[in-house]
Amino acid sequence: MSEAEACVFCKVARGKLPAYILHKDDHVVAFHDINPQAPVHVLVVPVKHIQDLESIEGEDGDIVTKLFRVATKVAGDLRFSKNGYRLVLNNGQGAGQIVPHVHLHMLSGRRFLWPPG
Ligand code: 5GP
Ligand code: ZN
Repeated sequence: MSEAEACVFCKVARGKLPAYILHKDDHVVAFHDINPQAPVHVLVVPVKHIQDLESIEGEDGDIVTKLFRVATKVAGDLRFSKNGYRLVLNNGQGAGQIVPHVHLHMLSGRRFLWPPG
């Protein structure tokens, strides 16, 4: 089985694993995190399997911009633009990346500490 076939976020993007989907286009899918760390916890991921930021190449060069655009749109749709939201991207195991498919966390609905844990 290839890395992408085994990947949970690829499965969600292909409709092979159920998720509460908030946005889907040709490049980006956004869905609720299965283990929310805030009242609202949305994952924004590329449809294409890209392991981490270092793996972005060629025609995918603007994917991070696309992730941020969708995160901002979802935050607006959910009415969190005014009170604020936190965007987190754990890149690499040492930063807490567990799922090896680039993803942006959009968290909102509570106060957040700084520095983060
Ligand atoms: P990471 O630590 O890699 O930045 O975050 C991975 C996130 O993916 C975690 O917040 C975890 O709860 C979430 N997650 C893992 N497996 C699934 C799944 O099958 N479905 C959904 N919706 N979220 C998942
Ligand atoms: Zn994947």
